[in-house]
Amino acid sequence: MIHGIRVMLRVPKIVVLAIYDKLPRLEVKFTRRNVFLRDHFTCQYCSKVLPENQLNLDHVMPRDKGGRTTWENIVTSCFRCNTRKANKLSHEVNMHPLRKPVAPRWRPLYGLRENGLGDESWNHFLLAEKEARKSA
Ligand SMILES: [Zn+2]
Repeated sequence: MIHGIRVMLRVPKIVVLAIYDKLPRLEVKFTRRNVFLRDHFTCQYCSKVLPENQLNLDHVMPRDKGGRTTWENIVTSCFRCNTRKANKLSHEVNMHPLRKPVAPRWRPLYGLRENGLGDESWNHFLLAEKEARKSA
C-alpha cells in the first residue's frame, strides 16, 4: 500500500518488466538440475518421467568420441538407458533423443517454481506465462 494524504493505493507485490531498452542477455546456467528441468525430468530415450535421483546425464555424442559437455550434447537419461547406450553413437544402438538438445532460453523465473522458491502471489503471473507458452 502507498499512503497519500487522501488516498491509499494498492501496489502489486510483483511488477513484470515486459520491455526494457537494454535487457541483459542472460544464459541459463548449465547444471545437472537445469538439464533435468529442460527435459522435464524425462528420459530422452525411453520417455520415462523419473525423480531426480533416478536420472543421469548422457552424452549424445560420447565423450571418448569427442562429445562435449554442453547443452547441445547432454540429455536426461534413466540409468537403464544410460547403461544401454554406454559410449555408442545414437545410430549404432538406435537410441535417439526425443528432442534435439538445445540451450534453454532464459526466463526470469526459470526453474523457480520447480525449486520451491517463489511466492503464492506470483502464481497468477506464472500461470499466465505457462498459458502463453502453450499457445505460442
Ligand atoms: Zn530411459
